[in-house]
Amino acid sequence: MPVDEFGLIDRYFRDAGAQRADVLTGIGDDAAVLAAPPGELVVATDTLVSGVHFPEGSPAQSIGHRALAVNLSDLAAMGATPDWALLALTLPAADEQWLEGFAAGLSALAREHGVALVGGDTTRGPLCVTVQVLGHVPAGTALLRSGAAAGDLLFVSGTPGDAAAGLAIEQGACNASGAQRDYLRQRFLKPTPRLSLGARLRGLASACMDVSDGLLGDAAKLAAASGVAVEIDYDSLPLSPALRAVCGDSRARELALAGGDDYELCFSVAPPRLPQLLARLPPRQWHYTQIGRLTAGGGSRVLRGGTVMQFSHPGYRHFG
Ligand code: ADP
Ligand code: MG
Repeated sequence: MPVDEFGLIDRYFRDAGAQRADVLTGIGDDAAVLAAPPGELVVATDTLVSGVHFPEGSPAQSIGHRALAVNLSDLAAMGATPDWALLALTLPAADEQWLEGFAAGLSALAREHGVALVGGDTTRGPLCVTVQVLGHVPAGTALLRSGAAAGDLLFVSGTPGDAAAGLAIEQGACNASGAQRDYLRQRFLKPTPRLSLGARLRGLASACMDVSDGLLGDAAKLAAASGVAVEIDYDSLPLSPALRAVCGDSRARELALAGGDDYELCFSVAPPRLPQLLARLPPRQWHYTQIGRLTAGGGSRVLRGGTVMQFSHPGYRHFG
């Protein structure tokens, strides 16, 4: 049974996400009215286009989850606590089964993080999802890309490269089976925004960003924003056992450096803060690894046994 736009919004989105007392007027009026939190607002928006950011025919639940997750990841990178989200949805047709899955994926993640869906827009056209998130930090504490200095240590959370292998499996470009296949697929289909880690890095990290376009390129962006160079130790890259088993060690390291869609945090810490970092956030509990350092100068290098690696793979062209 087809639903009209208003029925659709009512049915799938009015109760999606968390209920919050600071939503004075939510979905249903011309705009939402929100009681602003103390401190500073942190806002981000990101779009997922079908066939570009996810394969056509991706599970609806995954699209709903990822549309919010990629935005929450941006807030995590700023050390912010998310509060509200808006959803601009362009759909080829009001397919109820698809909408149910999409809303379930988005709503489950929103509720997990106490985020209320306070409005949006619904239009007809090729499938495209834009989410905007709003959150807050105590004044002056947002984590920026630009705060790193030469001598700072560089870390990454989780195990980068998994999502790129998961996408390759989704596209039929990589063979895997059993638990390893399931694990890697889920790392693409259902990324985890590192919100608690990001918030706890306030006051500890000198700079932070989320890794969405490949660790090496993104670390280079952090370094450039900070006016320094970055060195990554090839042998320190944290690899999941599944990634190594499915791709082999060398391909796994390539994916960890250059694969996309990780949504992990890459952050720098000044050496005097290291004892505090390790005490407050034990690495084994918080799952992060030192992968390199920031140095004077510019650009990015991958080191192995003290020498700069040269790659012929097109993804590494920027090594020069
Ligand atoms: P208007 O034409 O005044 O912009 P709409 O008909 O687009 O109003 O939206 C009606 C209400 O439903 C608004 O509160 C809007 O924020 C909300 N809304 C529309 N689409 C969505 C959506 N996909 N998700 C969440 N809320 C939505
Ligand atoms: Mg509208």
